[in-house]
Amino acid sequence: MDLSYILNEFAEDRDQYYRAVAPPIVQASNFAFAKVDDLRKAFENEYSTWLYSRGLNPTVEILRKKLGALDGAEDCLVFNSGAAAIFAAVLANVKSGDHIVSVKEPYSWAQRMFEVILPRFNVTVTYVDGTVVENFEQAIRPNTTVIYLESPNSWFFQLQDLEAIAAIAKRKNIVTICDNSYCSPIYQKPVQMGIDLVLQSATKYIGGHSDTVAGVLSGSRAMIERIFNSEYMNIGSGIQPFNAWLLIRGLRTLPARLEKITKTTGEVIRFLQQHPRVEKVIFPLDPSFPQYELAKKQMTGGCGLVTFMIRAAESATIETFCESLKHILMAVSWGGHESLILPKCAGMRPDAFDPANEGHRSLRLYIGLEEPAYIIGDLEAGFAAIEALS
Ligand SMILES: *Cc1c(COP(=O)(O)O)cnc(C)c1O
Repeated sequence: MDLSYILNEFAEDRDQYYRAVAPPIVQASNFAFAKVDDLRKAFENEYSTWLYSRGLNPTVEILRKKLGALDGAEDCLVFNSGAAAIFAAVLANVKSGDHIVSVKEPYSWAQRMFEVILPRFNVTVTYVDGTVVENFEQAIRPNTTVIYLESPNSWFFQLQDLEAIAAIAKRKNIVTICDNSYCSPIYQKPVQMGIDLVLQSATKYIGGHSDTVAGVLSGSRAMIERIFNSEYMNIGSGIQPFNAWLLIRGLRTLPARLEKITKTTGEVIRFLQQHPRVEKVIFPLDPSFPQYELAKKQMTGGCGLVTFMIRAAESATIETFCESLKHILMAVSWGGHESLILPKCAGMRPDAFDPANEGHRSLRLYIGLEEPAYIIGDLEAGFAAIEALS
């Protein structure tokens, strides 16, 4: 399906709503029936019609069809957060006694699920270094039912060979789940590489304006229908109509925003790479990246997330850098209009900071929609502030 068709027309039926160009927000909890038999059919199969908005809703329906098509998947569900999409995808594929093989350091709330919630139900996890395919093969046990992936990871961007891991999993009847938040479906399509379930935080690029939280889960019709009838309906974590409408609006400009962000990111990376205070720049589509070849093979683009290390003997240097930025905001998340900085040292006690550990000195920069010179000028101000310290 043509990208422009998906974003501008697919799943929209303007004859249903006054030929309005933007779809309505159907802010209704329930839908009325004229015939008992129609109501009976809705009870029999809630995945077939409007009955109650914890299930299907017309505004959400437009969004989920578009997002499924964007992922190149048969079907899709939209949740009220990326974390909820992770929870449903994993929960739907484990029972007591099962085992998960996960890439190490997955998104923090996936990790919490694996370490805090699932052990209570006798489900265990083994973490592996995902850069080596054989590690997955070696970690698989007879009771492994899920391989959990995140490629690239959102801090240091380690990749997994999605095609190779999907092939191993298929032979052993193991479900593969991949978090695709970094690339978004514009730059990577895991379903086409054989991954069973692909998810992303729509809070990031799909929403694109830092004003809503949501998650997407795509896969085969059979798998998604099963998740709808169980985890989705039972946890009640589906997206609300207004938030769905915001995401439909976000989709209209998604390629244009990513194009701009990608271009600016290249310019900012070039600035950082030549700066004497910068020790290292990590970006999956930079030739210096250890998995550059794999990145080129399975991703058609990078995005606005870049990690860099500055030369610093104490965390105060990094703190001064971040606090001296006038335009780049210090905040979590990414994918919106605004550039962001996140220092790794904020996640640790000041006395735990080890200047010899380059991970501790890392800063994650998200490049938003501002002009390149505006962002670079702000980074220059940050570097000037730390020069003034010494
Ligand atoms: C943000 C994020 C999530 C979680 O999404 P929410 O919408 O915040 O619940 C999951 N995975 C990755 C890689 C993320 O960056």
